[in-house]
Amino acid sequence: PSLPALLREHIRTIPDWPKPGVQFRDLTPLYLDAGAFRRVVDALVQRHAGSDIDRVAGIDARGFILGAVLAHALGAGFIPIRKQGKLPAPTIGEAYALEYGQGVLEVHTDAITPGQRLLLVDDLIATGGTLSAARRLIERLGGQLVEAVAIADLPDLGGSAQLRDSGLPIHTLIQFE
Ligand code: IMP
Repeated sequence: PSLPALLREHIRTIPDWPKPGVQFRDLTPLYLDAGAFRRVVDALVQRHAGSDIDRVAGIDARGFILGAVLAHALGAGFIPIRKQGKLPAPTIGEAYALEYGQGVLEVHTDAITPGQRLLLVDDLIATGGTLSAARRLIERLGGQLVEAVAIADLPDLGGSAQLRDSGLPIHTLIQFE
């Protein structure tokens, strides 16, 4: 099957989770299927094989799964971008909007050397708030963001469009209207 067909087959929708009215896109069946997971990784590795990526930054926690695999395959280092209070050494933080209140993402200040070329990875883009905060962290440390990559996009929420408008290249493999 084509990559979008494969993704559609292996991403399931959980109605009313984590709360009523939310249609949660669950990617765990995709990671469970060795062939499907490999297709996704291969597609993204091919896309960036010539991009000269120094480091891949993955977002806590679902972005760690794909991010670490891509770092390995691209011969790049891996940077965890974590929720507040998880990283032990000196950090900088950026706030982002949650449905109620706000969250904070942090990164170790020594994780990026100015000028390094980075790929930013998460599993899914909804409002784009999470990727936007991660981008600010990377740029504050002088990292050069080559692209933000996610498996799925929810374009109706406008997050990916807003990020593209603000100059961040975004690549996703499947859109759920
Ligand atoms: P955003 O900040 O609104 O773009 O939300 C994206 C973040 O929330 C990502 O880190 C996702 O892991 C998580 N997320 C939001 N909705 C879903 C979903 O339906 N499936 C999987 N992850 C989701």
